[in-house]
Amino acid sequence: MDFLHYQNGQLFANQVAISDLAEQYGTPLYVYSSDYITKQFLAYQQALNDTNHLICYAVKANSNLSVLNQLANLGAGFDIVSQGELERVLKAGADANKVVFSGVAKSIVEIERALTVGIKCFNVESEPELYRINDIAKRLNKVATISLRINPDVDAKTHPYISTGLRENKFGISYQLALDVYRKAKSLSNIKIAGIDCHIGSQLTELSPFLDAADRIVALVDELKANDINIEHIDLGGGLGVCYNDEKTISPLQLVTELKKKFAKYANVELLFEPGRCIVANAGLLITKVEYTKHQDGNHFAIVDAGMNDLIRPALYDAWMRVLPVKEPKSSDETLIYNVVGPICESSDVLAHQRDLSVQQDDLLVVCSAGAYGFSMASNYNSHPRPAEVMLIGEQQHKVIRQRESFDDLWRGESL
Ligand SMILES: *Cc1c(COP(=O)(O)O)cnc(C)c1O
Repeated sequence: MDFLHYQNGQLFANQVAISDLAEQYGTPLYVYSSDYITKQFLAYQQALNDTNHLICYAVKANSNLSVLNQLANLGAGFDIVSQGELERVLKAGADANKVVFSGVAKSIVEIERALTVGIKCFNVESEPELYRINDIAKRLNKVATISLRINPDVDAKTHPYISTGLRENKFGISYQLALDVYRKAKSLSNIKIAGIDCHIGSQLTELSPFLDAADRIVALVDELKANDINIEHIDLGGGLGVCYNDEKTISPLQLVTELKKKFAKYANVELLFEPGRCIVANAGLLITKVEYTKHQDGNHFAIVDAGMNDLIRPALYDAWMRVLPVKEPKSSDETLIYNVVGPICESSDVLAHQRDLSVQQDDLLVVCSAGAYGFSMASNYNSHPRPAEVMLIGEQQHKVIRQRESFDDLWRGESL
C-alpha cells in the first residue's frame, strides 16, 4: 500500500490525512485509491498487450459502481456470478459482450437475462446447466456461447475455504468427464462452444499450481482438437495472491509470461483472466475508531467500531490483516499485546489477534488491504448500517462513492 505513509506524526493516504477522512465521513469507513486500482489493472494489461486477450475483473471482490466504471473505462471485461452483478456492470457502463458468467447455480431468470443482453460467455459448471442454457436459448431463439469450467484437480496450496480446484470442491466439471460433456455440448442446437476455463482458488502465492492447471488445460485442448472441437479462448480464472503481511507474491507479469509460454502453440487463441483480489485488495483500507480499551485477566482488547459485519475475512478465513495506528507510533510508547475486536455479539468478531499496539479510547486505527472481499462481504448483522465508501482521486481529492447506510436503509422493504 504505497499510498499510505506517516507525515508529521499522522497517517496519510496520498496527501490526505486519515483523521480528516474520519472526521468528514465518520467511521467505520472504507477508502480506496483509484490510482492503485488503475496501476494493478494496467500491470495485467501491459503483460498481455502483444496477445489477443480480455481481462475480466471478478466483480465479487469489490462491486462498487465507481470501481466497476473505472475498470470499464480502462477496457476491462467482467467476471460475474449473479444477475445482481450483471445489473451492476451494465449500470456501470460495461459492454455486455465483455462479460463472462461463472457460478454453480445459475437460475433460469439469470440465464434469460444474460442471453437477452448478449454476454460474451457462460462459464458452465455442470452438465444440467448446459441443458438448461440450451433450452432457454432455443426458446429465446438465440445461440448461447459457452465455455466449460474444468476442475483440473490441482492443489492451489491456499486456505481450504478459498481453494476451488480440487476434486472434492463443488466447482466446475470433473477433468475426467470434460471430453464427454464437450461432446454433448457440441450436439446441442443452441450452444456454441467457445472456450475452456478454470479457477483453482484465491490468494495463490506460488506459480506451480497455475502451471499445473495450465498443463492439464493444454492436454485437454489437444484432446478436444483431436475430437474436432476447437477452442477459441482459454480462461485461467483469477486467484493471484497479494501481500497482506510478508507473503512473497507473483506479479501479473510473471504469471502472464509463464502462462503465455504454455499456450504459445495455439496461435489465435484469446487468453482470458479473471483477477479480483489483486486488482483491489491493496487499494483499500478500513478506518475504525477505538470505542474502549479493556484490560482483564491478562487480556487486552481494543474494542473498535468496525466488526465482522463490515470486514469478515479475519473471522471467516482466519485472515491476517495489517492494523496501523493513525497516530505514528514512537519508540518510547508503551505497548501491549491487543486483540482488536468489534461490536458484534460473536466471539469470532476479531479483526486482528495479538498485535503490539499503543492505543487509547477514541484513537483511530486503519485495517490495511481491505479493498477486496471487504465491503462486498459486509452485512447488517446486529443491525449496523454498512459503512460509507470513499474514493481517493489523485493526491488531494476524495469523494463518497457509497453513502453510509441510514437506519431507514436497515428496514427497507420490511413491514409491521
Ligand atoms: C472469485 C473468483 C475469481 C477471482 O478470484 P481472486 O482470487 O479474487 O482473483 C475469478 N474467477 C472465479 C470463477 C471466481 O469465483
